[in-house]
Parts: sequence; structure tokens; C-alpha cells
Amino acid sequence: MNVRMAEPNLEGNELKYVSECVTTNWISSAGKFVKEFEENFATFCGTTHATSVSNGTTALHLVLVALGIGPGDEVLVPANTFGATAAVVKHAHATPVLVDIDKDTWNMSPEDAEKKITKHTKAIIPVHLYGVPADMDAIMALAKKHNLNVIEDAAESHGATYKGKRVGSIGDAGCFSFYGNKIITTGEGGMVVTNNAALHKAMTEIKNHGMTPEKRYWHDVVGYNYRLTNIQAAVGVAQLERIESFLEKREQIAAWYAEELKGITGLRFQQTPKDAKSVMWMYPLYLEKDFGMTRDELIEKLTAAGIDNRKSFASLHTMPPYKSEGDFSVSQSVADNALVLPLHVGMTKEDVKAVCQVIRGK
Ligand SMILES: *Cc1c(COP(=O)(O)O)cnc(C)c1O
Repeated sequence: MNVRMAEPNLEGNELKYVSECVTTNWISSAGKFVKEFEENFATFCGTTHATSVSNGTTALHLVLVALGIGPGDEVLVPANTFGATAAVVKHAHATPVLVDIDKDTWNMSPEDAEKKITKHTKAIIPVHLYGVPADMDAIMALAKKHNLNVIEDAAESHGATYKGKRVGSIGDAGCFSFYGNKIITTGEGGMVVTNNAALHKAMTEIKNHGMTPEKRYWHDVVGYNYRLTNIQAAVGVAQLERIESFLEKREQIAAWYAEELKGITGLRFQQTPKDAKSVMWMYPLYLEKDFGMTRDELIEKLTAAGIDNRKSFASLHTMPPYKSEGDFSVSQSVADNALVLPLHVGMTKEDVKAVCQVIRGK
């Protein structure tokens, strides 16, 4: 058996569009695919604007810089996420303040977030972990009450919806990653979507060396080179053409998992909030005591059977750069007891059955 965690599917127009870049010489960050990818991605998310960037991490950092977040400012980040969500706050020379997660959705707890707000708090970065939308109504209400910006980390959740809206379109800005294991990929790549024209303009300028569009080689601000290439965007345009079919396939695979894992004692699943829809980036599982085997023991068994898997993210409050005191017990329990099973569009029902066989036969 050999079931991998993630695998991109590049069987559409990817090669055709990349060849077009090469044969026409448009291989750098100027070129028609960049614009097309941005326009199509904004349409997909239901936002007025989208600007492409070099990866999901630069997407998040770009928004912080464009919002003027810097030294002395605090930004709320969930304690249980991929490290980049917190690292970008450090890149902006601001302070990430960790928030415990909700025990059902594993996303930022709005109640704990409110407790962490001080007079220095400037923004909240909710993460839609493993494709499950965060509790955006509560987070947006908190932001409004305390006059904070909301930057959605949608790196794992392209196409997920919350009360009919696509994630990324709800806060001030939404950030996406197109790394090879994400819902769609450009190899490396990212995007920021927003409905705020001024923020969009600031971001397009800052990501392009901070050059004023009106005056060449003139810099009103310190910029970065965070551009996506036309070749990457060519892959992105082709991926986006098929995203709806990818999302349908993911839903199907998740349904197979749910069916196969039904009735096994000691398994708990990440919950999706009411009126929201996950895109099932991966298939996480929480092992309760009565499962009868520890998370690490199950990981060993799966690995021995040729089934790729991961521990769920470790809690940031335990890591050297983000060490924090306080109650992060939910984040810690997910970090200790959860694992993620493979889920990608190339998986068959037989693959899912093979994974679940190992879990069932513990
Ligand atoms: C992948 C990911 C990122 C970073 O994206 P890159 O493209 O790898 O830089 C940020 N946040 C989360 C939650 C992610 O999963």
C-alpha cells in the first residue's frame, strides 16, 4: 500500500499554458496569466480585488505591512495553526498574541480572543484550519467592537463557505497559499483577496518593490518583491478551471471516510460550524482515551502499512519563538491526540478503505 498525504493533479491545461509562457518568452512576473489568475480568483472568492504573491506567507505579511501594523502592535493568532501564521507577525516586528482554540472546530475561540484584547491589539488572524471555516460572525463582531482588522488565513480552505460567503471574502483581507499540497497549487504561490480598493492598491505597490505606478523607480514606501511569476500563474489559471471538480471529489472522499469510520469507539472529528462548509483539506481525527491506542501508536501502525499521515500541528505556545503562559489546554489536547489522514483528489475508495482498515483493526 502506498497512500500519500497529498498529491497535486496537473492533468488539465497546466502544461499547455506553461508551454505558452515559454514559447512566448513571458516567464517572469509580467504576462497575461498573472492578470487572468487574479481576476478569476477574485471572481471565485466573490471579492472585488485579488493580488497574486510569491506564497501564502508573503500574502499574510503583505497585508500586515499594508495595514501599517508594526512595532508595539499586537495581533491575535490561534495557538493551533501552521507556524507561518504567527511568523508573519514577527516579520512585521509586531507581537503575536496566542489564543486558545474551540474544542469542536479547532479554530480560534472567540471567547478566549476577547480576553486577549488589550489597547495594543490591532488585528485578528483567524485560520480556517484543515478547510473548516472559523467562527467568523463572532470574530467580525469582536473586531467591530474593538476596531480591529481581520486578516483571514485561508491557506488551507480555498472555496470553503461561511453563511454563503467564500472564506477570504469576509474579513478585511483573505490570504491563500498555492503550495503543492494545498487545494489548488502553482508550485509555490499565494493570493490576497479584498473588497477594499485602497488596501488593494497599497498591496500591489508594496509587493512590487514599493514602486509608485505613476512614477517609475520612485519609492514612496519600503517595498518587497513578493511577485508571482507568469509561469506559476499559468498553472494557477489551469488549476482554477477545475477547482469545483476538485472540491466535489474532496467531499466524496470525506464521505467515504465518514462511512468507513462510523461506529469506531474513541474517535472524535473536527466539527464544521453551523451554516458553513469545509473543503476537507485533510482528514483529521482526534483519539479519545477509550480508542485504546495512543495517537503515536496509531501513527506507527499507519506508517508501517504504507499510509502517509501527520501529527496535527503542535501548539505554538510550546515553541521557542512563541512561548506563552496561560491556558492553552484545548490547543494542547489537539496537538497531543490528533492526527491527519491523507485526502487528495487522486484517492480512490479502495485507498480510503485501506486507511480505515488499519484504524478499525487497531
Ligand atoms: C500553508 C500555510 C501557510 C503558508 O503558505 P506558504 O505558501 O507555504 O507560504 C500559512 N498558513 C497556513 C494555515 C498554511 O497551511
